[in-house]
Amino acid sequence: MLIDTHAHIYLHRFEDDFDAMLARAREAGVEAIVMPAIDVASIRRALALSAAYPSLFVMAALHPSETKDATDADFEAVAASCDEPRVVAVGESGLDYYWDRSFDAVQHDFLRRHARLAMERDLPLILHSRDKPGREEVFEDLVRILQEERRAHPQGHRLRGIFHCFGGPPWLAEAAASLNFLVGLGGTLTFKNSGVDAVVREVPMEQIVLETDAPYLAPVPHRGRRNEPAYVRLVAEKLAEVKGLSVEEVARITTANARRLFGLPDGAPRPSAA
Ligand SMILES: [Zn+2]
Repeated sequence: MLIDTHAHIYLHRFEDDFDAMLARAREAGVEAIVMPAIDVASIRRALALSAAYPSLFVMAALHPSETKDATDADFEAVAASCDEPRVVAVGESGLDYYWDRSFDAVQHDFLRRHARLAMERDLPLILHSRDKPGREEVFEDLVRILQEERRAHPQGHRLRGIFHCFGGPPWLAEAAASLNFLVGLGGTLTFKNSGVDAVVREVPMEQIVLETDAPYLAPVPHRGRRNEPAYVRLVAEKLAEVKGLSVEEVARITTANARRLFGLPDGAPRPSAA
């Protein structure tokens, strides 16, 4: 069985074939899907879906690119939603230096708030990080801020989570491990010349979970088209090839890693008790 630890299937692009899309995921062996929020509205949509479908779980946070005009009230709404039993993580938070550098300070502030929220609520923290090709500043800042927040917080030992859409640099996997973070591997692992496979070869299986980031970054041979949770199997197959393991072994280990991190129930997923 597989778990897609990162899929934005609450987006309108899935409205027309939602049940068929979930059926394809089940067919591919996907037993649970965790939906990362990007803003308050998406938390609400994801919660509504998780109430209707027992295999769907929710993360709550403001995506770094959405923090430019975010308010204290928005963050309060994120924090309040963490009381919902189907919310299994704070995410996706993080830093994005790719699109717009005009509000770095705001991004840093919300990252710190999300990290504290995760430690307070004892939830994993799911992180987005993106910089221009060849630049590592965003990863350095992310690691430094997490180290500072962990040191300053009375519940610092609770800090844990995922560096989602991981593709290096190589030192980042070790830095993540030292912070008790896993890495999320998705479609980019299957892209020719992405170099992700070489980086992943050095990462222990116990530190890896699988994701699609649907509808984005569809793996080969669907690259460029809409991604969906069923395709997480293609990521598992590629990882099996890179690691010299069977797909079953990759599925077993990554699913156990995801279950442990998110506190998901074993076997057939059901709503966890409040
Ligand atoms: Zn995402």
